[in-house]
Amino acid sequence: MKINVTVDGFAEFVCPSCFGLIHELNISPYRPGPLWTWNRDVECPTFNEGLIIKNPYQCHVFIEDGKLRYCTDILGSFAGRTVDIPEFDRANQGQTA
Ligand SMILES: [Zn+2]
Repeated sequence: MKINVTVDGFAEFVCPSCFGLIHELNISPYRPGPLWTWNRDVECPTFNEGLIIKNPYQCHVFIEDGKLRYCTDILGSFAGRTVDIPEFDRANQGQTA
């Protein structure tokens, strides 16, 4: 499982570029703010929009066909790369972002 769907309507994934931090995307239309739509496939997810995060790490990534496609505007070795999404395991994670 690459995507963890929470009961309150977030889709979470582990970001290797942010040192294993969990990023979350709002998939609940009942919550104001940015809303993502996706194919609802937790093993091979595709989301309609990319994600940009400024804190604590600069992150800019698209989720397509079960992979993370990092943009070239991020810092670190993942810039411009496409990698498999890690298996979701909250036990190994730190904070949520
Ligand atoms: Zn990240």
